[in-house]
Amino acid sequence: MTAFSEALRKAFGERARKNVSLAPMTTFRVGGPADWLVETRSSAEIVTALELAHRAGVAVTLLGGGSNVLVSDSGVRGLVIRTRGGEVKALGDSRVRADAAVTINGLVRWTINRGLAGLEAWAGTPGTVGGAIHGNAHFGGGLVGDLVTDVRVAAVDGTMSDLPRAAMAFAYDRSRLQQSGEVLLSAVFEVSPGDPATLRAQARESLAFRKRTQPLDSPSAGCVFQNPVAGRDVVPDGIPWSAGALVDRAGLKGVAMGGARVSPTHGNFIVNDGTATAADIRQLIERCRAAVFERFGVRLREEIVYLGEPA
Ligand SMILES: Cc1cc2nc3c(=O)[nH]c(=O)nc-3n(C[C@H](O)[C@H](O)[C@H](O)COP(=O)(O)OP(=O)(O)OC[C@H]3O[C@@H](n4cnc5c(N)ncnc54)[C@H](O)[C@@H]3O)c2cc1C
Repeated sequence: MTAFSEALRKAFGERARKNVSLAPMTTFRVGGPADWLVETRSSAEIVTALELAHRAGVAVTLLGGGSNVLVSDSGVRGLVIRTRGGEVKALGDSRVRADAAVTINGLVRWTINRGLAGLEAWAGTPGTVGGAIHGNAHFGGGLVGDLVTDVRVAAVDGTMSDLPRAAMAFAYDRSRLQQSGEVLLSAVFEVSPGDPATLRAQARESLAFRKRTQPLDSPSAGCVFQNPVAGRDVVPDGIPWSAGALVDRAGLKGVAMGGARVSPTHGNFIVNDGTATAADIRQLIERCRAAVFERFGVRLREEIVYLGEPA
């Protein structure tokens, strides 16, 4: 263990830390400490961290913007790699490559400023390219994976591979990375020429839609549950195929457990009033799942990712 700490310190200096609270690094603002945390600034640094952990037999967890995770109150054992920095590059006129740590908002701004269309509707989506590809983020009926042509990933031992979109097993809230445990290093997105003013107006529309429909003033992780999927789930006639609507119609909007509450604005958001623990949020999630199953026979699945074991 000490040898691992020393190796991390040698490679990352002050950016390698022990016993670091993860709560401030998540949008839910809850959760315990990581045994070790490194903040990487490039793909090469992510690979170095993976190699060091692999050699030492230390478990690794990736954290991007922390906007789709619930970190347990007891924290995360092993090494947490928090991806930061990164860059965007144009590859000719029709493709851009973004490093995993680039924020979706940063990528949207970058493309709009260069008159490149394709990503503008994603304005306001919190988090990074890595997190968006891992969960195949969705907005307005579109999936982020549909915009990707290929990706670069690293296996847990740091070995890199380039994969075409077809190898990514993208589906609603799904990607290959969830099964393989590979780490996204960068992704290439398809773009086309567009007028920056028009693209900016479209981005503003997305932002306004979010402001109107989402409780953005309180800490949350966005939608907690996946929407039901035809072929997998059965929703009673006349009930919308929407997790938020199901939670709402089960009478749970505004219901609280400890410092966690189902948002009165959006039934699929749980908000932290500033005093919530991860356990409060988990209990409320279970309560919603139980009530929706009892009332409608639909088993809601989490869209958010649990990191660390529950306390
Ligand atoms: C207010 C609000 C609104 C939201 N709106 C939407 C929305 O419209 N659509 C939507 O889909 N989501 C939405 N979300 C959820 C969230 O923004 C997305 O899921 C986002 O893509 C997560 O990215 P992240 O970097 O924060 O990932 P994190 O939360 O840090 O991580 C999520 C998962 O990805 C993994 N991961 C992170 N980086 C990498 C990497 N480089 N390689 C491999 N795995 C990695 C993590 O280990 C974890 O399992 C919203 C969240 C909030 C708070």
